[in-house]
Amino acid sequence: MRHKLKLKYYPYTLELKHVFTVASNSRSTTPVVLTEIEYEGCIGYGEASMPPYLGETQESVMKFLSSVDLSGYTNVFDLESILAEVDAIAPGNTAAKASIDIALHDLTGKLMNQPLFNILGLNKDKTPFTSVTIGIGTPDVIREKINEAGEFKILKVKLGRDNDKEIIETIRAVTCKPITVDVNQGWKDREQALDMVHWLKGKNVILIEQPFSKDRIEDTAWLTNRSPLPVIADESVQRLADVIKAKGIFSGINIKLMKCTGIREACKMIILAKALGLKVMLGCMTETSCAISAASQLSSLADYTDLDGALLINNDVFEGTKIVDGKIMLSDLPGIGVEKIDKRKT
Ligand code: MG
Repeated sequence: MRHKLKLKYYPYTLELKHVFTVASNSRSTTPVVLTEIEYEGCIGYGEASMPPYLGETQESVMKFLSSVDLSGYTNVFDLESILAEVDAIAPGNTAAKASIDIALHDLTGKLMNQPLFNILGLNKDKTPFTSVTIGIGTPDVIREKINEAGEFKILKVKLGRDNDKEIIETIRAVTCKPITVDVNQGWKDREQALDMVHWLKGKNVILIEQPFSKDRIEDTAWLTNRSPLPVIADESVQRLADVIKAKGIFSGINIKLMKCTGIREACKMIILAKALGLKVMLGCMTETSCAISAASQLSSLADYTDLDGALLINNDVFEGTKIVDGKIMLSDLPGIGVEKIDKRKT
């Protein structure tokens, strides 16, 4: 009997430990869809995470996945062809596509009985420290979050409203750890932004993510050219074709599996970014340890890593990559290195 790839998927809602606030919105849950691809009794796990501001929903992901037919593929290892055809089904739907990509990487790793980092030729000991996000809140809440983040070596903070200096000063009253700043397109004036970047550099901030709205290319290039800190694209760069446009505008790019359709395209983006002299940041959405473990397989290639998504939720359903003293620790299990915590939930 010829074996077939079988795709299953179901919606799941992540409960956030803290209300999550960025420049544009606040929320306490994140909808995801969990996928499983089975072949010869072996199951690969995948995940699509859809923070609401990115446009995908559980409904849109399940609609997309219902149009994916993997049963005709005879070579399960031919991810290049399978994923190109999945990508061609419809534009957008990047998180839905990532859920297939992740599940297939997990599955093929399990069929080869090797962790993905080995298959990719990467050294698991060379994983970096990840930052952990300290969301915007009252000074008391900020102090509480810094205490919770005790083991982490790098803090990430969301700025871009009218109290940026106050937030940094509140953190600096408690800790001198390096900080990465994500403005989420929140700054409006380039001269003020440059002054702020100089001030932030004096406060041991190490990078600025997406200072301006993604359509303000000239202002971003102006700031990057003068900035004493690297300016990293997030909202401005989604997929492989966007990487070349970041050259000369940003110092680097933040690659997220949910934006770029998964591990396969993320690898291509990393290679291109490095060839263009762009720094590579590896980021995430709020996600279970499934998608985080997938992204962390690539983490030794990144200049900066922001893979704290699974730590921000109360109801993870996977065990995989762990963060130990702030460092990403990959599991030795095959594929993306995850185990389902409670199999009854499938
Ligand atoms: Mg960002």
